[in-house]
Amino acid sequence: MPQPGTAEQPLRVAIVGSGPAGFFVAQRLLNQKDVVVEVDMYDRLPTPFGLVRFGVAPDHQEIKAVIRTFEKTAANPRFRFFGNVDVSAHVTLDDLRTCYHQICFTTGAQTDRRMNIPGEDLLGSHAATEFVAWYNGHPEYCDRTFDLSAERVAVIGVGNVAVDVARVLARSEEELAGTDIADHALEALRESRVKEVVMLGRRGPAQAAFTNAEVRELGELAGADIEVRPEEVELDPLSRAAVEKEDDRTLHKKLEILDGFARQTPAGKPRRLAIRFLVSPVELVGDASGRVKALKIARNQLVLGNDGDLRAKSTDHIEEMPVGLVFRSVGYHGIPIPGLPFDQKGGVVPNSHGRVIDSGSGQPMRGLYVSGWIKRGPTGVIGTNKPDGFETADAMLQDRASGALLAPATPSADAALNMVVAKQPRVVSYADWRKLDEIEVKQGRPAGRPRVKLTNVEEMLRALGR
Ligand code: NAP
Repeated sequence: MPQPGTAEQPLRVAIVGSGPAGFFVAQRLLNQKDVVVEVDMYDRLPTPFGLVRFGVAPDHQEIKAVIRTFEKTAANPRFRFFGNVDVSAHVTLDDLRTCYHQICFTTGAQTDRRMNIPGEDLLGSHAATEFVAWYNGHPEYCDRTFDLSAERVAVIGVGNVAVDVARVLARSEEELAGTDIADHALEALRESRVKEVVMLGRRGPAQAAFTNAEVRELGELAGADIEVRPEEVELDPLSRAAVEKEDDRTLHKKLEILDGFARQTPAGKPRRLAIRFLVSPVELVGDASGRVKALKIARNQLVLGNDGDLRAKSTDHIEEMPVGLVFRSVGYHGIPIPGLPFDQKGGVVPNSHGRVIDSGSGQPMRGLYVSGWIKRGPTGVIGTNKPDGFETADAMLQDRASGALLAPATPSADAALNMVVAKQPRVVSYADWRKLDEIEVKQGRPAGRPRVKLTNVEEMLRALGR
């Protein structure tokens, strides 16, 4: 039998997850000319684009321009979108095996890491990822509530997610009103009484995970003064030695920005956004009703770890900071995919260049692939998924050439559609999504907003006449 990959017998591929990772895999597969590939992309939500829709901050619309590239891929006649289909709840891996030669999981890192300190589960202590999903209108997070009557909010971590959360909390109503922030979040933030947002970095400025453009923006907010303590941006001897040795221009620029913040005199804006360094929360203190009222913070020193990295080591100098709301922003974490091996510690599916590796034999599992955060962990920006996705797609094309494929009983587009409709009659196509997109954009126009998001799955299905 000839290899699939011809017009008569296309290579049938399922991609599970419609975020940037999935779209870059699809782009590579559909843009090459040697093999005829058909891609069906699944998402448990009726809307595509994953973290571009639900992760990227609403005041960062320019980052969402990448959607135009995804739209080109989606316009390919050999691409289909199966939205509102949960792979595991509606359709199983075995169902997919009956219709596809290859299955690629691009499901991201769907949960958050924890700090594992006392009081972490007090009322008013949340994962930053929940807040992000809430303000971005993720249907599963719309009913969350955050007590924005608190005057001081702590954000633990100094990565780009922490920056997003701190910035959204510190933005004025006018700055947010013209964005595609979810209406419920805009309303709640309008009533916000937050006066001070404090970001806490456990290591020093030279180790801060945020990127330069993102941190620079914190000094340009209309309604909030930036505050950095001069003594906390002063480099310790170990960091100074490392910085001098590395000669990293980007890092030098970051230190310059932070140094500039430390020298700035407050302009008397209504809010303050502080960035602290070399401090670790050791306990969240609750009041009688179980709500967080303070954060105990230890001052840290940097020590050289066995791997050559500088690590934070707490001293016994503890301060207590009154806070009414805490967001931990200490990284995302992947969750297991039924039927696939899982590395619990790293939160990833073990893989080699995107080929899923069987934990027992150490060999690739035929026809199964991963890309994006579930492949490499929750690091990098959206663009990082392009080379990553291309690598996985190239491994898929190599395996097609060598014949290392699944052996689906019914490898046709019709069979896959019938299987999906039988399991989830309320499947949403890409044409359906285009209708939802049009509705959202139209709703945004009178207020000059890019769109007003539909945030409820039933409401979306009703809008589609289902
Ligand atoms: P991240 O960049 O890995 O940052 C995590 C932060 O949490 C670091 O500051 C880390 O400090 C800190 N941390 C970890 N464990 C901690 C603990 N137990 N106590 C205190 N602090 C702790 O993760 P992220 O912010 O979630 O971002 C994920 C990825 O998405 C990143 O690659 C990011 O650049 C990207 N992203 C990009 C944008 C953008 O481009 N605008 C926006 C959002 C996200 P240590 O360094 O000491 O471990």
